[in-house]
Amino acid sequence: MHPYVRWIEIDLDAIIHNFCQIRQLVPPAVKIMSVVKADAYGHGSAQVAGALAEAGTDMFAVTTIEEGLELIQAGIKNPILVFAPILPDQADLVLEHGLMPTIDDWEALHALASAAAQKNIKGSFHLKIETGMGRTGIPSLEVSQFLQEIKELPQLQLAGVYSHFATAMMKDKSFAHKQLSIFLQAVREIKREVSGEVLAHIANSAAILDLPDTYLDMVRPGTLLYGQYPSPYVSKKIELQDPWQMKGRIISVKKLAPGDSVGYGRDFVTKKPREIGVVPVGYADGFGVLPHTRPAKFYDLVKSTAKLLSQILGLIAPNYMIYGKERLPVVGRIGMQLSMIDITGKGIARGETVQIPIRRTTAGGKITRVYLRDQKISAIREVAAVQTQK
Ligand SMILES: *Cc1c(COP(=O)(O)O)cnc(C)c1O
Repeated sequence: MHPYVRWIEIDLDAIIHNFCQIRQLVPPAVKIMSVVKADAYGHGSAQVAGALAEAGTDMFAVTTIEEGLELIQAGIKNPILVFAPILPDQADLVLEHGLMPTIDDWEALHALASAAAQKNIKGSFHLKIETGMGRTGIPSLEVSQFLQEIKELPQLQLAGVYSHFATAMMKDKSFAHKQLSIFLQAVREIKREVSGEVLAHIANSAAILDLPDTYLDMVRPGTLLYGQYPSPYVSKKIELQDPWQMKGRIISVKKLAPGDSVGYGRDFVTKKPREIGVVPVGYADGFGVLPHTRPAKFYDLVKSTAKLLSQILGLIAPNYMIYGKERLPVVGRIGMQLSMIDITGKGIARGETVQIPIRRTTAGGKITRVYLRDQKISAIREVAAVQTQK
């Protein structure tokens, strides 16, 4: 085995399986850009990208330049698109490392042109078009002007054009269709004006499942690669495997008498004799942490208030861990790196393993990732190498 007391197992075969499902769904002429931003949604970008490169992905996408450099340092040779539009002062950096920048601003366009001229190389980039996400991209109305500008800059090469859906995962696809039609108008104009191949892409995971007319030249799956459907409303037309399992070992077992308390603030006080197991994972690892979104509608407010109330009243267990098939409630306040679960009467011994449900994208980046191929450990990503003698 290995010496860890908490770790995340990542089955790379499952990720490859999910990639192959997408590959079979999408026509062979359509390229696949695997999205490995946010540390491959928590799975570990270097290892995941390595497996996907082997499986035949065409390109990769990340959000930042640093994320791109991590892939290059891991030996990835495929083109890597950086989603975040570059700032003018980053033009040198992207060219130096051979990353594919996103441009959504005139100043950055000119900065890229001069950096390319200085290095005497072609500056390839993808142009982002804003079609309704209200985030990044040039307004579709400025496309003509942009094309005129690009013609005057022979150092630059427009290699791709893309946009991003705001609602493809929802039941009602009307806004997605509206975004697509704005995008297609821009794409037609660009393909008419620019000689050479320009890859047009807009399809995320939800669009890959539900909107085949959005495939164009390339699709950009993230969520599907990691074995999850983007929402309950999408069609589940491909069969996914879950690559993720977080596990932890019980490092201490305590017997408590009535009136004893557990954890900071003494939030939990026992009424009956209890057995408590301690697992080394806490809020600093992302356990029990939920990304905060403000209630947008009155209905959301009612829903979140009801949820909070029932948690306070103890109607639903807010957090739990899994032993075999059983859910064991977390008791007391979750600590920075330790949590306590109620194991009363379960016959669980110190050293045993439980499964830990945790949100992947907020699971601590420093938790050891153990990678599996053919059910065997193929790689380990850890904060510090632990020497073990076999
Ligand atoms: C994250 C992201 C994707 C992938 O989205 P999924 O819904 O996870 O498939 C695609 N394109 C862009 C621009 C993204 O930011």
